[in-house]
Amino acid sequence: MTVAIPTALERGIFLDGAVQPLDGETLAITNPGTGELVGRASAASAEQADAAVRSAHAALRDWSRLGYSDRGRVLHACAEAFESHVDELVPLLVAEQGKTIREAQIELHKAADTLEHYAGLAKEVRGVYVHGLDPGVDGRVLRRPLGVVAAIVPWNFPTTLLCNKLGPALLCGNTVVAKPADTTPFTTLRLAELLTDAGLPPGVLNVLTGTGPVAGEALVTHPLVRKVAFTGSTPTGERVAALAAPGSKRVTLELGGSDPLIICDDADLRAAASAASMGRFYNCGQACLATKRVFVFESVADEVIEAIGAKARRLRLGLGSDHQSQIGPVHSQRQLEILERQVNESVAGGGEVLAGGGRSDDPALSGGWFFEPTVVVEPPAHSPMAQEEVFGPALPIWRVKDLDEAIERANDTPFGLGSAIWTASLENAERAAAERDCGYTWINSPTKVYDELPFGGLKTSGVGKEHGSEAFDHYTDLKSVVVKRKL
Ligand code: NAD
Repeated sequence: MTVAIPTALERGIFLDGAVQPLDGETLAITNPGTGELVGRASAASAEQADAAVRSAHAALRDWSRLGYSDRGRVLHACAEAFESHVDELVPLLVAEQGKTIREAQIELHKAADTLEHYAGLAKEVRGVYVHGLDPGVDGRVLRRPLGVVAAIVPWNFPTTLLCNKLGPALLCGNTVVAKPADTTPFTTLRLAELLTDAGLPPGVLNVLTGTGPVAGEALVTHPLVRKVAFTGSTPTGERVAALAAPGSKRVTLELGGSDPLIICDDADLRAAASAASMGRFYNCGQACLATKRVFVFESVADEVIEAIGAKARRLRLGLGSDHQSQIGPVHSQRQLEILERQVNESVAGGGEVLAGGGRSDDPALSGGWFFEPTVVVEPPAHSPMAQEEVFGPALPIWRVKDLDEAIERANDTPFGLGSAIWTASLENAERAAAERDCGYTWINSPTKVYDELPFGGLKTSGVGKEHGSEAFDHYTDLKSVVVKRKL
């Protein structure tokens, strides 16, 4: 059974509440599973970026003057409309991103749920009142929206990563210009239409399709943009932060990671092996919070390594549009080539291939970018699989003698996004939570992200937080007001 993949789409940018006709340069969007053309979208120019920002700026006054509960009501209607159109959006997301039908469903439901989460917080936003600063003098701390927010997201989860920004940004009274990746514009454009139909006023959300160097940079450097909320790779994020410095724009960066998963000798080994496999191969390994390195205690290593290898070999690789597929294609030729180099160099350096190891040789998949689910045991410490972010279905595993070695090696990376530990010992778990340099630690739990908890990396994995009510701090400015009464 398969879903029908759309073709021949033609969509311009989303401006003032409507998708515009194609205008100027275009992007050809292809299906990563087949190489077939899905359609064309605008490669927006600096002038189109300017129009999108000005439209968002014009909408700011009315939107920011609504009460929180009014904006919450709109957001709630948006979340409901999104949720009720998930089935319509699935084929679009599968077509342009490549992921499987199930992964697309999970992503879209999660994105709608994030909007609902922030709608639900509308009546919970509080300020601060400080009594008696001096005799007859009180202080208040107000939260004010920042203004126009540029929300720039990558292609791996086009809708959840956007809604992580849209939820708090819109609730706090900002307006948003979203820029999806240049390979995944269509789901975002359709989503913007649905949210507008549900009651989001024109201009409160515009969508600028296009490339990073042209549309993205025009957005980041636009003088009317007050905040850049960026998710993507570390090198691009660092460039974006530098470009946003003039004008002292606010910046949050959600960047790359190389998350370790530590398996102790007292762990539930079956559950730990499942978590490692799910954590690595979900979304074809293209997730920031994926399990990208496993460290397992020597005494249980053979059993765990065999279990993870067997799981990788059993995964059904196939077209995203086929209901039978458990893992789809890598998103692009460029990603495939990077992954291939990382695995080849790591194996050439001495790593042992336990599963997969290269491109799929299935003739039915020859049109797309398919890489076998791969497990490599003990690649050298200086190899790409140890040192770089591996953004695809390839997992390195190393044996360690104890927790000291596991934590030391887990921390030996420029990244600090997430981490996991599997153990029956409270002491081991607490040590990992305290000593791992990262923004999230899972203890005996799959690497699931919760809207309720703040999320954001340390080191080169980012700056600032998304999710949780903590996100409000990154979409508002605080202002102190002093009131003196006559005594
Ligand atoms: P990327 O940095 O190449 O692109 C991300 C976005 O930035 C795209 O929309 C792109 O068009 C835009 N962009 C590129 N150059 C730009 C520029 N000069 N100015 C403005 N915008 C520009 O990232 P990618 O390779 O597409 O995505 C994968 C990366 O994203 C991985 O490193 C992954 O770990 C990371 N990621 C992080 C998180 C997180 O929350 N920490 C979540 C998902 C993905």
